[in-house]
Amino acid sequence: MCGIVGAVSSRNIVPILVQGLQRLEYRGYDSCGVAVHAASLNGASGPKGGLQRARSTSRVSELMDQVQADHIEGGTGIAHTRWATHGAPAVHNAHPHFSHGTGAGAGVYKGDTPLKPGRVALVHNGIIENHDELRAALQAKGYEFLSQTDTEVIAHLVDSLYDGDLFEAVKAAVRQLHGAYAIAVFHKDEPQRVIGARAGSPLILGVGQGETFLASDAMALAGVTNQIVYLEEGDVVDIQLGKYWVVDRAHQAVSREVKTVNAHSGAAELGPYRHYMQKEIFEQPRAIADTLEGVEGITPELFGDGAYSTFKAIDNVLILACGTSYYSGCVAKYWIEAIAKVPCQVEIASEYRYRESVPNPNTLIVTITQSGETADTLAALRHAQSLGMTHTLTICNVSTSAMVRECKHAYVTRAGAEIGVASTKAFTTQLAGLFLLTLALAQTKGRLSDAEEAEHIKAMRHLPAALQAVLALEPQIISWAEEFASKENALFLGRGTHYPIALEGALKLKEITYIHAEAYAAGELKHGPLALVTSAMP
Ligand code: GLU
Repeated sequence: MCGIVGAVSSRNIVPILVQGLQRLEYRGYDSCGVAVHAASLNGASGPKGGLQRARSTSRVSELMDQVQADHIEGGTGIAHTRWATHGAPAVHNAHPHFSHGTGAGAGVYKGDTPLKPGRVALVHNGIIENHDELRAALQAKGYEFLSQTDTEVIAHLVDSLYDGDLFEAVKAAVRQLHGAYAIAVFHKDEPQRVIGARAGSPLILGVGQGETFLASDAMALAGVTNQIVYLEEGDVVDIQLGKYWVVDRAHQAVSREVKTVNAHSGAAELGPYRHYMQKEIFEQPRAIADTLEGVEGITPELFGDGAYSTFKAIDNVLILACGTSYYSGCVAKYWIEAIAKVPCQVEIASEYRYRESVPNPNTLIVTITQSGETADTLAALRHAQSLGMTHTLTICNVSTSAMVRECKHAYVTRAGAEIGVASTKAFTTQLAGLFLLTLALAQTKGRLSDAEEAEHIKAMRHLPAALQAVLALEPQIISWAEEFASKENALFLGRGTHYPIALEGALKLKEITYIHAEAYAAGELKHGPLALVTSAMP
């Protein structure tokens, strides 16, 4: 899932849209694009001009060159960085998508070669699961598809439901979508209006001076506005010049709190570091200290009101997470069983939601997610809830996220924004939160003496200093890395809590260096993988 920026303003908004995409570039993308309503400047209200668009499979800076060369300007617009899920990374699949075809109201385009752009422009993050059946129905109505994306289906669907009011058309369209989406849409006949909607993918609203913005992340609007509304699951929002309306999933008007968000401003500064991952690795002592700040002693209430009775009621733990967070959960299993003596299972969120399991209402469901918006983990939480498991707790880095809102209890880590692709400080702060959970469970179950509690707290206080000592090894680690850089494979081995750490190490190596790596529990080396070990295998 990549980036969305949208705006309604009375000034030319294209530079802000493109700079917003630049601030989201760190997330990675394979293509990008921007569309504006050419008649939206100078208070124009009629359907003159029309939709203009530039798309690129190169960098956002190249998109900016295109936009300038083609004199694309407008006060209303949407922009997107895409990470392809449906259809190859290619210009014709890049967003924004326009509605096309001979369907209801679009009949004027019949026989045109090439097809003229239709009336609706749309960007989308996420995946529409029922895109095949929606596409078939829209094709039957005369809509023509120029891309292989699931997204183009939404543009046509909104067009087919449009009857003079884009807000109503989008509300009707989202009712038909299954899957995850954050979308931003505008219409040729409504030059100063953008409609947004979210379910399963984040979308925020930025309130400016006489102008209004949408984005997938507040970071995209840094320097533009710090007045942010975090939209909730199922919300649909209508943004216009200096005003906006939000409806909830039942399409009832709601007012959402406007928050002042400055948190991201410093995160984008690289300082003395060569890249963000290095910066974030070195931020770990600070992040751990921040995460543990204010923890004077162990009490279930660290996880929110009522956590004591929840911990009393449960007799086992089920951790649900993906990727790096899954590995932090695997470490926690060793702790929870060894220290709290509570049976603990860890499951990949996407596996759990797609298989049949045996629910136990006395289970503490623990989700772990950096962003609190990981679609598979949110879906796994809701799946567990639907099976009658109501004791829910999350370890999460974003206090305003859907996950924190939907779980009964939470421990919010304070890693700060992670810009590097690989999770580093988010992982170690999750471990700190999970260790606190272990101790709080042990205490509630009567398995933590005061002396043990004091000993653990002392050890945790020492963590930032211990991390500093490891980080001081950077020169030696760089020289090892130079030796390993020419290798094509690597094996990571570990026993006990170091087994999931080995898994995490192998994941990091693959993700960042493209060197193939695998991890094994140390005792497993002799049961097969040893066959691969030569003098060339680190
Ligand atoms: N599923 C959409 C596509 O493949 C959106 C991908 C994204 O979130 O960037 O175009």
